[in-house]
Amino acid sequence: MNVLVTGGTGYIGSHTCVALLQAGHTVVILDNLFNSKREAVGRIEALGGKPVRFVQGDMRDSALLGEIFAAQTIDAVIHFAGLKAVGESCAEPLEYYGTNIGGTVTLLEAMRAGGCKTIVFSSSATVYGGQNPSPFREDMPIGQATCPYGSTKIYIEQILRDLSAAEPDWHISLLRYFNPAGAHASGLLGEDPNDIPNNLMPLISEAALGKRSELVIFGSDYDTPDGTCIRDYIHVLDLADGHIKALARAAATQGCETFNLGTGKGLSVLELVHAFEAATGVKIPCRIGPRRPGDIARCYADTTKAEQTLHFVCTRSAEDMCADQWRWLTAGKE
Ligand code: NAD
Ligand code: UDP
Repeated sequence: MNVLVTGGTGYIGSHTCVALLQAGHTVVILDNLFNSKREAVGRIEALGGKPVRFVQGDMRDSALLGEIFAAQTIDAVIHFAGLKAVGESCAEPLEYYGTNIGGTVTLLEAMRAGGCKTIVFSSSATVYGGQNPSPFREDMPIGQATCPYGSTKIYIEQILRDLSAAEPDWHISLLRYFNPAGAHASGLLGEDPNDIPNNLMPLISEAALGKRSELVIFGSDYDTPDGTCIRDYIHVLDLADGHIKALARAAATQGCETFNLGTGKGLSVLELVHAFEAATGVKIPCRIGPRRPGDIARCYADTTKAEQTLHFVCTRSAEDMCADQWRWLTAGKE
């Protein structure tokens, strides 16, 4: 298939582009480089073994989208582009609604005009909210968003379900990611944001590199075995493989389907810190701090539907994730 990947130079998008090329697809990337760098294109091509077409531009630019769909047949879209910083979304809700929701609607209109009705969308486990008990299943009710970023995922999912109900010939896959982490095993591709990180793995990495004096653990009084919060960390390469399977399924299936992409296994903050130390031999200085507002004690996936329908199973361990992250951060940089 010829696949348009919005946000394709970003963290998850770049790894998925490599997996697409390796699976025999051709790739057109649309990214405005707001949170990624052009160098990613060359690295994707080197690892994927084939060239990609890169368009630097904004998904809210309907004229540009029209040109992309007019210039070639796009068989499917994998839609990663968007803003994703939870704290920033509380301070700048209009930017988040405008980019994430406005951009998605503009993209969908361009797809319809261009005759492409297959889309895989990057949703998040955040849509389950704090009320549902883990493991989260796809048929659980959508929860309450705790920030405008989370609201955009809930609304975009609803827009796509509404579109599917109104126009049943669309092929739509909603992928609810748990906690993506790690990097390409080559050390050539990884998370390289322009903004300040606020997820756990990049913050552990900064503490390991001495870029920050310590990792502050947000609460050790949760109702979990070691008192720290539990999340479902999925290796970004497993996540990329999940997209290849979801794309094949979406292309073959009309309607709108939802899948969790996680490992199904929860890891506490302390367990991830210990896995990182074991994989790299680097000690992480840690301090217990107060709870972070909005955090829930446990968030991990029920993976049954992805296993049974997509035949998707994660193959990489937490240690692989940490070792690959460390290789990406240190390879060629000593
Ligand atoms: P990322 O920031 O690395 O990638 C997003 C890409 O979109 C960036 O390259 C950015 O430059 C681009 N972009 C932003 N606005 C754009 C616009 N208006 N037009 C064109 N390009 C634009 O983020 P990521 O971690 O790779 O996440 C990809 C998707 O997955 C996002 O939709 C995110 O919300 C979702 N997601 C991420 C996580 C996570 O923990 N990383 C978890 C759940 C869901
Ligand atoms: N966390 C932490 N210290 C940090 C950043 C995160 O203890 O500096 C914890 C956070 O409280 C949560 C887990 O790490 O329990 C994962 O946080 P992240 O923001 O990466 O993902 P999310 O909470 O959105 O699942």
